[in-house]
Amino acid sequence: MNHPVNAAYIHVPFCIHRCGYCDFTVITDRDDLLSIYLDCLETEITSMLSGPHAVETLFIGGGTPNYLPASHLERLLSLLRKWLPLKAGAEFSIECNPEDFTSERMDVLAKYDINRVSLGIQSFQAEHLKTLERGHNPETVVDVVQRLRKRGFENVSFDLIFAVPGQSLEDWNSTLERAIHLEPEHVSTYGLTFEKGTSFWTRRLKQDIRPADEELERSMYAAAMQTLSQAGFEQYELSNHARPGFQCRHNQVYWNAEQYFGFGPGAASFLDGERAMRYRSVTGWMKHIQTGESPVAERETLTLDLACREAVMLGLRKIEGIDLAAFEERYESTVRDLAPDAYDQFIQSNLLEQKRDRLQLTYEGRFLADTVVAEFL
Ligand code: SF4
Repeated sequence: MNHPVNAAYIHVPFCIHRCGYCDFTVITDRDDLLSIYLDCLETEITSMLSGPHAVETLFIGGGTPNYLPASHLERLLSLLRKWLPLKAGAEFSIECNPEDFTSERMDVLAKYDINRVSLGIQSFQAEHLKTLERGHNPETVVDVVQRLRKRGFENVSFDLIFAVPGQSLEDWNSTLERAIHLEPEHVSTYGLTFEKGTSFWTRRLKQDIRPADEELERSMYAAAMQTLSQAGFEQYELSNHARPGFQCRHNQVYWNAEQYFGFGPGAASFLDGERAMRYRSVTGWMKHIQTGESPVAERETLTLDLACREAVMLGLRKIEGIDLAAFEERYESTVRDLAPDAYDQFIQSNLLEQKRDRLQLTYEGRFLADTVVAEFL
């Protein structure tokens, strides 16, 4: 557990508008808080670290990090350069919204060595973007990708959403084809979920919006796996596909249950076996920092038992699965020990398989991952 901390996550909470399905830590219409946010982030980072701490992966997520005006982005990135410098060959990712992604902002990202841009594209069909309440259109995406390439970004990832209300399998296939045509290095595909507290959740209760049929959602997931694999992408996680050599290294830190720093509202860190969640309310997070209090709202020390159950949940997300010998050495228990009956039953029903020294979900198991994982928690 006490390997050096090689990863850090920074949360930027600002967005143009809160999309109806979004339950992330987001704030809108509060540009007056942009500079205060950066002041607080600086205080949080400098009081947490005793000095500059070099990392192998740095991930700026949101929210919409590229909502920050170029001058604010520059301030954020120079703060990170000073306090979380990149080791040689490090991965430095940022999540960006295609909407209002100016070349001026791209220039700042390039200047500060960001080498991976993850674009929240979601769909290549205007009608589904509208349903999702996204402000961009497919043409914007094409333009943004072309400008990123011209600016020298060689690692571009697309986030896509399937099972959007009203979306057919043909629509989804068309989005996949258009994505592939733009030649990203990485594609993440997520089924739309209706989270409590979102406007989609309320609209669903009022039957104003209807989730996709389960069978259709399954077909869409299968289509993503098949189409992306035929196009040369390798699926390495339940929702993630990459061209060889372009797997997201930062996310693998999470799936391998390794340590990481987290800064910003709603961000979690995982250090010395303790998970610490910052306040999700942006103003709450700011207030605590401004008054010299800890921005951490909740701390949880993982017992060995809990840590090993979580390791199963995270490890099974990876297509290569869990290295059983390494698991046993780290957690002093086998995966089977956690739920022997369920384990045997999943092997028998071909949802889990042991291949050489690894335990992984079968192709069929990927569709029922939540059900399988629940038995080990
Ligand atoms: S742009 Fe992304 S983070 Fe912002 S509200 Fe929409 S889904 Fe949420």
